[in-house]
Amino acid sequence: MRIANHNNRAVLLTSDEAGIDIHTASAGRFGPDLPSLYNTWEAFSTWAGGLSGSAADVAIDRTQLGSPSPAPRQVFAIGLNYSAHAKESGFEEPDQLPPVFTKFVSSLTGPDTQVVLPQGGNTDWEVELVAIVGKEASNVSAADAWDYVAGLSIGQDLSERVSQLRGPAPQFGLGKSFPGFAPVGPWLVSPGEFSNPDDLAIGCSLDGEEVQKGRTSELIFSVPALIQGLSQTVTLLPGDMIFTGTPSGVGLGRSPQRFIQPGETLISRIEGIGEIKQTFVPAGS
Ligand code: ZN
Repeated sequence: MRIANHNNRAVLLTSDEAGIDIHTASAGRFGPDLPSLYNTWEAFSTWAGGLSGSAADVAIDRTQLGSPSPAPRQVFAIGLNYSAHAKESGFEEPDQLPPVFTKFVSSLTGPDTQVVLPQGGNTDWEVELVAIVGKEASNVSAADAWDYVAGLSIGQDLSERVSQLRGPAPQFGLGKSFPGFAPVGPWLVSPGEFSNPDDLAIGCSLDGEEVQKGRTSELIFSVPALIQGLSQTVTLLPGDMIFTGTPSGVGLGRSPQRFIQPGETLISRIEGIGEIKQTFVPAGS
């Protein structure tokens, strides 16, 4: 199933253009918003499985789409999780759990947005598969991990490299959390919708030029491996987001380096999910 956050209400999609309002269809049992849906995810999934044939009552307007998890209690982001990207960043490929940081929740938005480029910064692109947790997870094995995933979405880990990299140690959290720096969407797609959720084409284009292209099967730590690794230490909570890392092709790793300019458009895509779109404006506009 595919679930959208449409106008702050959970909608079960019947196509890209239409869906069923979950709160109305369940006579108030589930929803109305996404955070409450994640807290009852297993019961909701069972109920939604029996909903076939219901008529759509919502016309999807993409300008009304919000983040598929608009208020996660935790956002995990993973660095250096594709070997070609680790190499272009000047690091060894990790053999332990890769670097884990957060994108602060105030940077979260829906899928199609205008983003202000921080003054004096170098803003870079990082398309990423985002996994959203559907069930509390502690000490989960990789073999069981997909059972804890509500679904997958597309994220951009927008990154301002000047503030990220200055100072005695990298400021991953701050450099990647300017307003609008964590667009996610366009919706949540449950793992069962994919023939293989561990192998999806992923990429992004800047003003029509393809700058990143890979497959999620190239992840050094797959979604199940990340859930196993993270849940050894922290308890994953329903609605939590995991930005799983970016393939090679970021602007920082290019020669010459390239960063996003005002007026440019970034389109990010993942097979079986769709695309998200960011346009960029200068600070003060
Ligand atoms: Zn990233």
